[in-house]
Amino acid sequence: MFLYSDTGGGHRAAAEAIIEAIELEFPGQVITEMVDVLTTFFPAPISMAPQIYPQLSKMPRVWEMGYKASDGKKRVEITYKLLRPILQRYLDDMILKNPVDLFVSVHQLINQPVAKVVHEYGLKFATVVTDMVSTHAAWFAPEADLITVPTAQAYERGLEMNVLPSLMHITGQPVADKFCQPVGDKAQLRRDLGWNSDLPVVLLVGGGEGMGPLEDVAKALDEAELPMEMVIVAGRNKDLQARLNRHHWKTRTKVYGFVTAMPDMMRAADVLVTKAGPGTICEAFIAGLPLVLYSKMPGQEDGNVTYVEAEQAGVWAPTPEEVVATMKSWINTPQNREVYAANAARLANPAASRNIARLLVKLAS
Ligand code: UDP
Repeated sequence: MFLYSDTGGGHRAAAEAIIEAIELEFPGQVITEMVDVLTTFFPAPISMAPQIYPQLSKMPRVWEMGYKASDGKKRVEITYKLLRPILQRYLDDMILKNPVDLFVSVHQLINQPVAKVVHEYGLKFATVVTDMVSTHAAWFAPEADLITVPTAQAYERGLEMNVLPSLMHITGQPVADKFCQPVGDKAQLRRDLGWNSDLPVVLLVGGGEGMGPLEDVAKALDEAELPMEMVIVAGRNKDLQARLNRHHWKTRTKVYGFVTAMPDMMRAADVLVTKAGPGTICEAFIAGLPLVLYSKMPGQEDGNVTYVEAEQAGVWAPTPEEVVATMKSWINTPQNREVYAANAARLANPAASRNIARLLVKLAS
């Protein structure tokens, strides 16, 4: 049973990618289920996290304060110790009503108390850490039987949290199989998507929820009137999609809501302008797309930015002006863009989901 929650799109996407990989590696041999752990098993305010998260993402300073204040081994332990009596009956219910061989958490919020109780029942528990580099202490439950992490930096963080090295595996970030197929013919993909095949295509994405100042960035790029085509994905943010559709663009622009064709869109694009979501970043690596990161959720996404910058797979451009300056330089000097693209491709880890799938099935059986 995969425990995820829709706070952002990344946790769900990670669970789906692993379940898909299990079916590909072990066809018909494993029964899997995905459950929104916060809304299904727990009372308010925990169950309200998916509604609260998009609001909090508009208040990054408040989020940052909460994130930093709660991020520490002792603090996490104390918090959940205090919450345990309140949560106990929900945790018991969850376990007794779901006689599964393995619980897998892809969400940090309730990871620790669930791991503890699963362990007390003598059952198995695994965590798939889906934050790339700056991983909150709540991810690392000492009772877990297995923890997979996306990067060496996340592994180091696990060691700091006293996780036994033998329990941790550096696997990369789980990404859906459809992203892991060969790039194919870019010109044909563009024709299929109805995009102009001659100009450089800049894909703009704000995670699953269309978060961050995506609109300001898109409008600033539009005002710069660069020789490029813009493709803007508003995700599940319907208001943003409607505003973008109403805008009169000077640049050739296509606006989408939530898309399922993200792999083809990434393969057909030349640059990805995005908030620093771990799923999107790792998918871009596989597509060999250079990144312009325009915003981040402070705390869990800080490390994503430093990682992308240090590996020179993209640049941090936290203002619309900086995004425009980067795009100008990459369009005027495509060789620069190609260096970043090659570095992005070097960081790709298309085998991650299948490696995680094998580890989990081994543990479950
Ligand atoms: N995504 C998608 N369609 C959309 C927008 C986003 O499939 O229209 C996917 C994207 O490819 C990625 C996930 O949603 O797999 C977003 O995860 P990420 O970790 O980047 O950001 P989050 O939304 O969790 O903050």
